[in-house]
Amino acid sequence: MNPNISPAIILHHTDYGEADRIVTFLTPEHGRLKGFARAARKSRKRFGASLEPCAEVQLHWTARGSGNLVSLRDAELVDLHSGLRRDLETLTLAGYGCELADVLFDESGVGVEVFHLLQAFLNHLDTQGYSVEARLLLEIRMLSVAGYLPHLQHCADCSGPLPKGAVSFSAALDGSLCPDCDAGRATLKIDRMTLGTFGKIMQTPLTSFADFKLSPLSRKEGQLLLSDALRCYLHRPLRSLEFLNRFSPDETS
Ligand SMILES: [Zn+2]
Repeated sequence: MNPNISPAIILHHTDYGEADRIVTFLTPEHGRLKGFARAARKSRKRFGASLEPCAEVQLHWTARGSGNLVSLRDAELVDLHSGLRRDLETLTLAGYGCELADVLFDESGVGVEVFHLLQAFLNHLDTQGYSVEARLLLEIRMLSVAGYLPHLQHCADCSGPLPKGAVSFSAALDGSLCPDCDAGRATLKIDRMTLGTFGKIMQTPLTSFADFKLSPLSRKEGQLLLSDALRCYLHRPLRSLEFLNRFSPDETS
């Protein structure tokens, strides 16, 4: 069986049995995969630190006969991203990014874009550390790549214009709504300026994270609307989310 060799980002691992490990990883060509790393905990020779979450590696694997678990053969470390361990906020946000990629994507399609997005996000956090902006940029782009971006700058129902000031918003109703279409159904009010800001963010390159500075209102409302959208589409609550929200309590309450 021919081995696959591919760049990969380690998303997550769990211990299996006495010495083995099951590793979830993201690749540009094959999307998100799970692999079995035999004796990964007993012998550090073959895998070393390269199966740690958030590490970027060159991974060698072969398909297994049945199921969707591949066999990991070898891993060369490309970048451990050790700067992520500078503080708890940064490490938690990095882990959250990996978990988002894990739950939003699978082995089908959209590998390349999400791989480059997560790679740029981790590189940014590695050198610049935690920021609410980095989190929001990642969330809105992940939603967009996954095909779940809510309507922001026009009414999700009638495509009509939105009023100035507070706009009704509900991810379950596909996004922003004009007063006629809303008719009291939406749960959130988001300022049209914030919707415009996030609309503009969607025109920037997927991998650009430096030099974004949002106003306190855009940070707060951005978290409200993106949290609403993510809740709508995630199959399960994220393990890292509650902990992550402790680092921006004023903006997620
Ligand atoms: Zn409408």
